[in-house]
Amino acid sequence: MPPPTIGVLALQGDVREHVAALTALGARATTVRRPDELAAVDALVLPGGESTTMVKLARAFGLLEPLRERLATGLPAFGTCAGMILLADRIVDGAAGQETLGGLDITVRRNAFGRQVDSFEGPVAVRGLDEPVHGVFIRAPWVEQVGAGVEVLARVATDDGEHPVAVRQGRLLATSFHPEVGDDSRLHRLFLDLVGG
Ligand code: GLN
Repeated sequence: MPPPTIGVLALQGDVREHVAALTALGARATTVRRPDELAAVDALVLPGGESTTMVKLARAFGLLEPLRERLATGLPAFGTCAGMILLADRIVDGAAGQETLGGLDITVRRNAFGRQVDSFEGPVAVRGLDEPVHGVFIRAPWVEQVGAGVEVLARVATDDGEHPVAVRQGRLLATSFHPEVGDDSRLHRLFLDLVGG
């Protein structure tokens, strides 16, 4: 069997960083902007950036419904920050009328940390990894609520309690932070293992 082709949704955001991280791991990575490009991939990464812009562009490129359809029928996907928002079934504090793609049975709170501190970095312990990752949070969401099939892989403590910042549901993975920034590829490795497994 040929190795899986991993698409990176390339409408906006840190596309290059994801392609580089995947390529460094020996994966076959390609950008996705059009429906025929989406049809050709076995898995998809949804980058960090601006979720409202990505949804607008996805609609303009005729990609919104094809994305929803593939996610609804089991496309493995990895969303980081804005990508986590896109994968979420439900959103709070979104822009007026903000839509998502869905697939992941979670509620995200957009710009959640912004009420305390806009952007920050720090070590995050992730279930399944021996050493913490360096989490880069930029106007990040957190996970407000998870469905029964969702495993919380990491949490961050704030003044008002602990909030999930990395989750997994089957072959869907999402983080509030940006593993594509820096050279720690363990979360991309984890995703590739999910795709292959
Ligand atoms: N706040 C952004 C959004 O709503 C996400 C920020 C990011 O991806 N770094 O899409």
